[in-house]
Amino acid sequence: MSKRFVGSGMTSPRTRDRMLRRLQQDGVKSPAVLEAMRAVPRHLFVDEALSSRAYDDTALPIGHGQTISQPYIVARMTEALFEGGPLRRVLEVGTGSGYQTAILASLVEQVYSVERVEALMRLARSRFMLIGIRNIRLKHTDGHWGWPDYAPFEGIMVTAAPREIPKELLQQLADGGRLVIPVGGFHAQRLQRVTRRGNQFDVEDLEAVKFVPLRIGNASA
Ligand code: SAH
Repeated sequence: MSKRFVGSGMTSPRTRDRMLRRLQQDGVKSPAVLEAMRAVPRHLFVDEALSSRAYDDTALPIGHGQTISQPYIVARMTEALFEGGPLRRVLEVGTGSGYQTAILASLVEQVYSVERVEALMRLARSRFMLIGIRNIRLKHTDGHWGWPDYAPFEGIMVTAAPREIPKELLQQLADGGRLVIPVGGFHAQRLQRVTRRGNQFDVEDLEAVKFVPLRIGNASA
């Protein structure tokens, strides 16, 4: 693997191992999720000027007023999505940097991810090509509508917070499928997991979180 992927100094394997130990201390248990977090080079998903902070447990700016989620949240949400069994096809709403997308892609057959800021989507796409990840499909759209062409999904993960869960996302969930989503206004968001059983939707409250809002409509920039 090229040095760029392996990293050196503040992006070295040793720095990544520190991140993993911190995740474990914070309660992340799934070996598959921890392995995915070790394998995906997070420093390639942030601007080069920030790469020395890529493995800190913090959210970082990615432009357009958006942020890459902190490693703990990425790991926690992934774990929450996979608890209950393996998934084959997953929809992500809010591609952003593409980091969470890449983590999902290492765990499932096919990831579909939608993003409302076209420039972020393009940048994420170039990163997947650089690293050689091929099982991700991207679309520039308002994620409130999900991606009906490929529904139903066994898992849906939303990485921006709506005030209420969009009905379309519930409809695009397969029977037995799981949706992990932050819900609420800026100061009072809760991470929720919804499991579909026929036409019934069981909601579990997981923990307090802080995400950027799920906005209405596309941005062309
Ligand atoms: N998983 C990303 C999180 C980025 S922040 C990462 O770790 O990098 C949330 C992302 O959701 C932003 O990129 C934002 O542009 C996007 N977003 C906000 N509202 C959206 C909507 N309605 N549809 C699709 N994407 C949206």
